[in-house]
Amino acid sequence: MTTGINHYHLPATLNDALALLAKHNGAARVIGGGTDYFVDDARESGPDRPEALVDVTRMAGWQDVRSEDGFIVIGCGATHAQIVASPLVRVGGTALMESCGLIGGPQVRNVGTLMGNIAHALPAADGTLALLALGGEIAVAGGTAEAPGLVWMPLALAFRGPGKSAIDSARQIIVAARFVPTGPNEGSAFARIMRPQGVALPIAGLACRVTLRGDEIASAAIAVGPVAPTPFRAAQTEAFLAGKPATSESIETASAILLSESKLRTSPHRATAEYRREVLPVLLREAMLNAIARAAV
Ligand SMILES: Cc1cc2nc3c(=O)[nH]c(=O)nc-3n(C[C@H](O)[C@H](O)[C@H](O)COP(=O)(O)OP(=O)(O)OC[C@H]3O[C@@H](n4cnc5c(N)ncnc54)[C@H](O)[C@@H]3O)c2cc1C
Repeated sequence: MTTGINHYHLPATLNDALALLAKHNGAARVIGGGTDYFVDDARESGPDRPEALVDVTRMAGWQDVRSEDGFIVIGCGATHAQIVASPLVRVGGTALMESCGLIGGPQVRNVGTLMGNIAHALPAADGTLALLALGGEIAVAGGTAEAPGLVWMPLALAFRGPGKSAIDSARQIIVAARFVPTGPNEGSAFARIMRPQGVALPIAGLACRVTLRGDEIASAAIAVGPVAPTPFRAAQTEAFLAGKPATSESIETASAILLSESKLRTSPHRATAEYRREVLPVLLREAMLNAIARAAV
């Protein structure tokens, strides 16, 4: 493939990566597995094409999935395949395991990363939706090698619009994501419907994290897409479900609220708004019942 890009850097440390970004002064671009970037790059031309790529998947200390300070932490070098295989994520973030396990095929999952999924900022990005429901945060590094800064921020603040990230991938690196694992009386789940047509075209995805108190739902976090310009937390549906019996009837009533707070669009290659209206309640039911069953174990 001809990219027109003159330099491909593989920094061994975060400081090296920041030094490279500083050296290129906005003309370089951070990449992970390249599974989104090179699809876009094939269409990109002209003055906005970066002069260098800074691959952040080999930086020491940011390549694994680990438990730290009460969080599950996922480094920017960890692939979807690593996340799916992680016993920590399987138990404490089942929704994330399920969503990352559905991304692309094995080739994509073997190189694609969760941070790339987040930085691409699509409203229906699978891994992103699960992390949002889990209450995830991301660590953003910027500045120079001499004065690096690393700030944790709520994942929800990372999006500006469809494909528009609040993270400037020419100057900043999402080095990790983290979330508090589900504990006793808690469960999470992900459900998606897609159109397998050469490349996977997600029609709708929904992730939830549920906490039970006896037979009722103490709280439910629900992330869904694409129903808004950015990955969306269904706050009204969440508020309705809190304190309700953990039953199919509660979920069915909540479906109407989910539909009323979702802005469904027809997209030519994926699905009509009417079809999405039919499938959202099905996804809510599937994910909620799975999460409730896991919380009840
Ligand atoms: C065949 C195919 C099928 C796919 N199927 C799915 C699917 O089912 N569901 C789904 O959600 N996605 C899917 N994708 C999209 C893509 O694979 C995922 O979004 C993946 O997680 C992107 O990760 P990456 O590391 O490859 O990102 P890259 O392509 O490396 O980067 C994507 C964007 O994020 C920026 N970026 C990457 N890493 C960082 C970082 N650490 N810090 C700051 N900026 C960064 C890059 O500059 C670029 O703008 C598919 C892609 C392909 C090619």
